[in-house]
Amino acid sequence: MAYEALYTTVRPKTLAQLLGQEHISETLAQAIVNDRLSHAYLLVGTRGTGKTSTARILARAMNCEKVLAAQKEKRPLKTYEIPCGECPSCKSIDSSPDNIEFDAASNRSVDDVQRLLSTANLAPLQSRVKTFIIDEVHMLSFEAVNSILKLIEEPPPRVAFFLATTEFNKVPQTIRSRCQILNFHLIPNETIGPYLRKLSKSKDVELSQEAAKKIARLAAGSMRDAVTYFDQCYATGNKTISLSDVEKVLGLVSDADLDAIITAVKTENRTMLDTALERVFRTGLSSISIAESLLVRLRDEEFNQLKRRNTSELNMLENFSEEVRKILVEMQYSGVPDIIFEMALMKLAAPKNSDSADEMDGDFDELTGDSIDDVKKIISGMVSSQRDNDKNLISALQMAKIVSFNNGVLVLSFASPTIGGMLNDVRMAKLENYLSQKMNRTIKVQRVLNQKDSGSIRLFN
Ligand SMILES: [Zn+2]
Repeated sequence: MAYEALYTTVRPKTLAQLLGQEHISETLAQAIVNDRLSHAYLLVGTRGTGKTSTARILARAMNCEKVLAAQKEKRPLKTYEIPCGECPSCKSIDSSPDNIEFDAASNRSVDDVQRLLSTANLAPLQSRVKTFIIDEVHMLSFEAVNSILKLIEEPPPRVAFFLATTEFNKVPQTIRSRCQILNFHLIPNETIGPYLRKLSKSKDVELSQEAAKKIARLAAGSMRDAVTYFDQCYATGNKTISLSDVEKVLGLVSDADLDAIITAVKTENRTMLDTALERVFRTGLSSISIAESLLVRLRDEEFNQLKRRNTSELNMLENFSEEVRKILVEMQYSGVPDIIFEMALMKLAAPKNSDSADEMDGDFDELTGDSIDDVKKIISGMVSSQRDNDKNLISALQMAKIVSFNNGVLVLSFASPTIGGMLNDVRMAKLENYLSQKMNRTIKVQRVLNQKDSGSIRLFN
């Protein structure tokens, strides 16, 4: 049996189940009770906010025997009674020829759309009201839009149109002005999270609060996305789903790694930053999406500190966010976003009020030995003296580690090929010349990718 997506099985079936859109369900319930439903609705909102579900609920309600009986008796109905879901009409509407639903974005030809719409002038075969649900209505051809316009200007008896769109601005004004407009809000995280936990319980799965929160935030107001993300985690068959399970299944940067990056910048700890960056890059995600995740995490942290009224921490986070926003813009226009991201973070994590570089400057003339310490000092000197000269060379050196220095061969390791690549042949020659001059003999430099074994020494801490 083909796997049915969880979202299709948990779609809201009554107005009461329409989460996060209470302003719409209340209004519609009133209109239904007073028999004042319109013959044309334009449902506007982001994907996954309940537009199609609402259209289906209304199509059912217009034909539901219990709803019609209540209307006749002027008896008020609760939102969970609309529609009843049990009467013959509710049970058969999915297969009814009078309930026509299509997506204007799919490849359906203009002829097909025209043919479907032309049946609007024919009386319904079985139902009381013939209903047309058209998704992504802004994608319809000009001819199809014209046919709809004619139909909603002079509506045939017993026909109702539900036009859904994610792009209100692309819907012709002539259609907008002839429909009753329902604006769907983004569904708040506070609604999505608890709903997911209830849903998981009904599936005998324990979804942790943190995990539910994470999915809700990721879904950004779309219940369909939220349920789909949960479905992906649910499909693993585990009986419990934790935050790290969600991160793993959905291929996300973990909050722990993002927190490590934030702490590393806060505490000016480049080694910690290096390790955290290495881990997040291993997820295979693009540096742009990692930077975006970092921005979201920073925003969350800002909210936390705002609640705690921790002004100094808040200022620091605001500055950090601002920097990441700037970096993101730069990354988007650059061919080497990875380098920009790493370098910018390394710069942010650089010690602010330390003059360690000057201390390390030393007096080179006195250097005689072959030790790694000497090389460190010479390179520090080069970094200080060339600071404004060759930024890429300096940045590459700032992120390099010394693996070994034997027989005049200095081996430097880099966390990533992109950073190592910044030390190109010209810069290598420059570095070799500088070292050779300072050490009075020929020095060769080699680059290697980050060696997992210890023994490598950071040039700068
Ligand atoms: Zn019914």
